[in-house]
Amino acid sequence: MGTHTNVVKAVLDSRVDAGIIRTDVLEKMQEDNLISLSDIKVLNTKKHSDFPFLVSTELYPEWILAKTPHTSEYLTNEVLSTLLKLSTRPKTNQEFRLTTPIDNSKVHALMKEFNIYPYQKEPYTFIDALLKYKYFFLGLFIPFIMAIFFIMHIQRLNKKLREHAIEIENFNATLEHEVEERTHQLTLLNSKLKELANTDELTRIDNRRHFFLLATQYFYSSKRNNLELYIFSLDIDLFKQVNDTYGHAIGDEVLKSFCHTIKEIIRQSDLFGRIGGEEFCICIQNTTLEGATTLAEKIRESIQNTTTIVGTQELPKITVSIGISSIQKGDNEIFDIIKRSDEALYRAKRNGRNQVQIILK
Ligand code: GH3
Ligand code: MG
Ligand code: MG
Repeated sequence: MGTHTNVVKAVLDSRVDAGIIRTDVLEKMQEDNLISLSDIKVLNTKKHSDFPFLVSTELYPEWILAKTPHTSEYLTNEVLSTLLKLSTRPKTNQEFRLTTPIDNSKVHALMKEFNIYPYQKEPYTFIDALLKYKYFFLGLFIPFIMAIFFIMHIQRLNKKLREHAIEIENFNATLEHEVEERTHQLTLLNSKLKELANTDELTRIDNRRHFFLLATQYFYSSKRNNLELYIFSLDIDLFKQVNDTYGHAIGDEVLKSFCHTIKEIIRQSDLFGRIGGEEFCICIQNTTLEGATTLAEKIRESIQNTTTIVGTQELPKITVSIGISSIQKGDNEIFDIIKRSDEALYRAKRNGRNQVQIILK
């Protein structure tokens, strides 16, 4: 703007929003009736004791005299000594005089703050920024470090969680496998139990209870479908003598061998059970009287002719008596047939053993 008054005018003419001028310029302009102070707003007004003018800043000393680089030393000294002489002999109407410099430290401080000659520093570095804004950076840095620790902690927890999840998965798999295994074992055990409950311990054929159960089913199916049904009652001849002569253990072996021989002859669909001691029953469905008689004869002959060797010992030879009967119109249960086949068996015994007898009705 060239002059301070131009700056004031520019503000008043709204050519600029604000201006910076030296203190006391406004008061001087009002005195000269150039402006009215009420039209001006002074920003950041400050009060200084014994200072009458409007001011926005600290107080700084008046302009000091300066020489340009090309001004000669001689001229400089001449001007300075003249000015100083003027000051020592002040005249009453003299407007200006030169005094010894007052405290310039505030100017120095200002120059330092703005980083200007003679306090120009190296280019402003990151370290300068760090030092200047250390509390700000610290304020940022601490939460940042805390956040990092927090994230690391969360990651550790996540890792643990994943490990535990895998452990649980493995445990579940093992558990499932174990349950499967146990279930399998239980199933096996159950079928074994069932077999034990249904099987005669010595001979491994159906026991009395199971034989009667299956034979009863055969009986009703035969009755319903009008099928032939034959029951054989078998009793080993003079078995007491076997026991008495060779001992009970050998008697057991004979019983086992007896069952084995018969199982080889009969069909899978035929029922064969141990009723007690050396007494057995066979139940055959859907055959003729001739077929039944032939089978009974075949069994009798096989028992008579079979030689069994256990270890090094040949088992005593035995014979069997067989009674046959078949399902009749008036029969209500399997035992009606068994009663008659038993009768036929007694007849075979009475007639001299080792033979087949038939009582149909
Ligand atoms: P019969 O020709 O009249 O049938 O004469 P038996 O000697 O066979 O008749 P009895 O009924 O008098 O004898 C049956 C014998 O069977 C008696 C018993 O010692 C024997 N016995 C029954 N059960 C078993 C067993 O499980 N093992 C052995 N070793 N012997 C048995
Ligand atoms: Mg007997
Ligand atoms: Mg007997």
